[in-house]
Amino acid sequence: MQPSPTAWSVADESFRDHFNEVREDGRRNWFYPQKPTGTWHTRRVWFTVALLTVLFVTPFIRVNDQPLFLFNIIERKIIVFGLFIGPQDYWLFGLTMLSFMVFIVLFTTIFGRLWCGWACPQTVFMEMVFRKIEYAIEGDRPKQMALDKAPWTSDKIMKKGAKWTIFLFISFLIANLLLAYGVGVDELQKIVTEPVAENPGLFFGVVVFTAIFFFNFTWLREQACTVVCPYGRLQGVLMDRNSVVVAYDYKRGEPRGKLRKNQERTGGDCISCMQCVNVCPTGIDIRNGIQMECVSCTACIDACDHIMEKVGFEKGLIRYTSENAITNGTSKLFTTRTYGYIAVLVLLWSVLGYMVVTRTNTETTLLRAPGTQYIENPDGSISNLYTFKIFNKTNRIIHPTLRVDTPGGTLRFAGKPDLSLEGAGMSEGTVFITVPKSSLTGRKNEVKLSVLEGSQMLEAFSTTFIAPEE
Ligand code: SF4
Ligand code: SF4
Repeated sequence: MQPSPTAWSVADESFRDHFNEVREDGRRNWFYPQKPTGTWHTRRVWFTVALLTVLFVTPFIRVNDQPLFLFNIIERKIIVFGLFIGPQDYWLFGLTMLSFMVFIVLFTTIFGRLWCGWACPQTVFMEMVFRKIEYAIEGDRPKQMALDKAPWTSDKIMKKGAKWTIFLFISFLIANLLLAYGVGVDELQKIVTEPVAENPGLFFGVVVFTAIFFFNFTWLREQACTVVCPYGRLQGVLMDRNSVVVAYDYKRGEPRGKLRKNQERTGGDCISCMQCVNVCPTGIDIRNGIQMECVSCTACIDACDHIMEKVGFEKGLIRYTSENAITNGTSKLFTTRTYGYIAVLVLLWSVLGYMVVTRTNTETTLLRAPGTQYIENPDGSISNLYTFKIFNKTNRIIHPTLRVDTPGGTLRFAGKPDLSLEGAGMSEGTVFITVPKSSLTGRKNEVKLSVLEGSQMLEAFSTTFIAPEE
């Protein structure tokens, strides 16, 4: 949803004329968000603990002797829930990506930026890990502001030094975590156990990603969400007026005004305490309306609820709601648009499910050798010459055999091809297929073959076989 002008913000839209990350003199507007506390924050802490546990444990989980997840883009090896998606599975990969994107669109249309606030690694690490360390070392907002303004005394050097050292260490951990998903824990372990010279690429990867994460969490911070992240930039088209967002109830809150003792209050419930602004990690004023910079972190909900409790007003002036719910009291999670997305998603998942269920461990192409005809053998049988390629669609070594299933059919390889296939490997060669005349019905015939590993059938397919006209 475009951050639309709403009844309460139409009067003053001037905040949209400038980017709140940049001050008038062109320098960066460095934010010092107040330490968040409250019900929603506690929920997020527990969610983060569960999420980080899953995130750090998952690379060690193995299914059928391979990782549960692997995203090795360079070697084009991807494993999702233990299912290996190799270079031959471009359809499977494409459909998985497409259904993932449709899911994101559907999820965002209904729940807004719930992902950003609760599960995005950028927000989770920034707000729940790095920021917490910062609060522990430098103190809350006022102390941080004072420390940054203070001269470089030994106390400041100590605090900044300790903070950056811990930040560097956690960035190193995150770099390792990322590579664990990229190359697997076994490869990563080599950096620890083997000399650096043996794995220069991996070592370089750890160093570069550590530097990137350190830069990101020390300096870039909320700008990763407000400037860099493409998902954040797409909110305007993904959300609509029914999407659930963190929003200020302007109908209840306006006209805002300071709370004065011994004076009957005639305005709205917002007492202009600015707590919701002070606590915001992206430095916005949620009272201006829904804005692209809001990452749905819920900090302003807690901050405002504290104030409402203190002054004896009902909580929820800022809450999870939709623009329609505030404006006209209607709330509709599922609209025609969302049903459309669900239909597309169900279709994509059905096709994906079918592809996964019918997927074979090998993919064989067997084509008649160009420019060749049939060969009539002395015993009356007919031979055709083929070239073949067998692709291993698993991530393990397999030793396949080829078998002709047409009655009486045999095959003979030209030379001695090595049919042992590395994970995602390929083997090719030339083979004669011989079929007795009794199994042939005319000039163009269909010959059935299968690929086996031991007695287990990996794949069944057929090819055309040319014989003389009767
Ligand atoms: S407006 Fe509220 S929910 Fe949005 S980023 Fe700021 S504090 Fe978080
Ligand atoms: S925290 Fe609540 S009461 Fe205070 S300024 Fe924000 S919306 Fe108004």
